[in-house]
Amino acid sequence: MRRPLRGALLKVIYPLLMLAGGFSKNFKERLQALTISMNNRLVMNEGLKVKKLLILLPHCLQRDECKIRITTDIYNCARCGKCEIKDIIDISEKFGIKLSVATGGNLARRIVSDLRPDAIVAVACERDLSSGIADSFPLPVLGICNERPFGPCRNTRVDLGRLKWAIESLAGKGK
Ligand code: SF4
Repeated sequence: MRRPLRGALLKVIYPLLMLAGGFSKNFKERLQALTISMNNRLVMNEGLKVKKLLILLPHCLQRDECKIRITTDIYNCARCGKCEIKDIIDISEKFGIKLSVATGGNLARRIVSDLRPDAIVAVACERDLSSGIADSFPLPVLGICNERPFGPCRNTRVDLGRLKWAIESLAGKGK
């Protein structure tokens, strides 16, 4: 019963909200955040415990002066600790979960189609996250909005506590 509700939210209500919010960027962003929050609640209510969980991250979490290419393989990261990529790799290893970085919607779709996860924990801005969650339906996605202390798409951050909560919710406790 929960999945049809999620479908109604993502395939009917969300497009209508985006039409309604078209006149104001801020208002639209609030509607996107609301959609993500309602989606998360519905996913949580499904009570899923999945085997193959994927964590999907935006490239802008990487420190902008870092020259290491992590989009092809996030494990190229030297783990210097100047950005949260190091912490997220540590978390993913603790939980034994796949981790990928996407530079945009097309790459994210390709990663999902290659890895075929049972569920996703995704980090991104409200716009990319809400559209990605809607595109991915019926795949369950828990979305976490990034923090943007330097403005969009640059040196963004994520609440690591929320990330762990999302992983534990879908994949159970870490080792
Ligand atoms: S932790 Fe250090 S090496 Fe890894 S991506 Fe961030 S800045 Fe680059």
